[in-house]
Amino acid sequence: MPYVPIPAVSPPDLNGSAERRWQAIRASRPDLEPALALQRGLLTLVIDLAAVLDGGRLPRLSLPPKYLAAKLARGVPALAGEPIPLPVPVLTPTLLRLCDALAIGGAGEAATHIRETVESGGLEPGSLLAASLNRDQAAVRTGALHRGLAPDLVWLVAELAVSPFVHALQRMVFGNTPAEALRTALDGWNHGYCPACGSWPAVAEVVAGHRTLRCSFCASGWELTTYACIYCKESGEPFVTAAPDEERTDRRIEVCRSCGGYVKTIDLPALSPFPLLSISDIETTDLDVAAMEHGYARPPLKDFGSRHKMADG
Ligand SMILES: [Zn+2]
Ligand SMILES: [Zn+2]
Repeated sequence: MPYVPIPAVSPPDLNGSAERRWQAIRASRPDLEPALALQRGLLTLVIDLAAVLDGGRLPRLSLPPKYLAAKLARGVPALAGEPIPLPVPVLTPTLLRLCDALAIGGAGEAATHIRETVESGGLEPGSLLAASLNRDQAAVRTGALHRGLAPDLVWLVAELAVSPFVHALQRMVFGNTPAEALRTALDGWNHGYCPACGSWPAVAEVVAGHRTLRCSFCASGWELTTYACIYCKESGEPFVTAAPDEERTDRRIEVCRSCGGYVKTIDLPALSPFPLLSISDIETTDLDVAAMEHGYARPPLKDFGSRHKMADG
């Protein structure tokens, strides 16, 4: 069953589960404390926004199951290229608060500068959020540099602010029990990028022997039918799974000498609900370091031909 629906969890249970996981990380990696404190600040804002969106109405999208099934069969993610109206007035306050949390959490002036530029009208939040939804790294980068802002930080705040919306869209479009045509198409999805939004996974979470790729943006879960490189499908000798720390074989990296890509995998008792996937990500930052030290990298996001220029406004 390649598409894996992830059960929703109520905000109090999310917070409780997040605290337990942070506690466990802190115990083994006290050096991560500042990063965990920042993550708590950011995730609290994301969880709050998700609750607001849950109580409101999502845009009506005309995406019949057969249309989506045909799209997925061509390897195109469900939401790619669709005209999706963003609830900009709902997302913008969170965008600004995320800048504040980052400013306090270590990014300082660079984050404050983003907030000020948005507030003064120098960066139109609607364009930024739309570029993030379109997964358009080039547009966000150019737009940020043009305004003297830190591109990676602009990308991060926009992605965090849009993530609860795209997560809700993904749940709405695929549902817990997709119509048969859609279900069949989803079960046939054997790509390393997300069937909903096209992003690469943040990590693969392995639960009871099932390696579920987890989208870094919308948190979708899906399994591949083959054990191979998620980027180029290499399954031969150049594709290697290794545990850099011999005492922690529950945390591994899959590296591929054919394309130079890597993905982290982590054994867990259960799949992380949105947005706690980023805890799996932060818990395994040493694996990113190990992979990058050996020259591996995550490839840029895929372009499905639907990107627009972010207005220079
Ligand atoms: Zn996704
Ligand atoms: Zn590869």
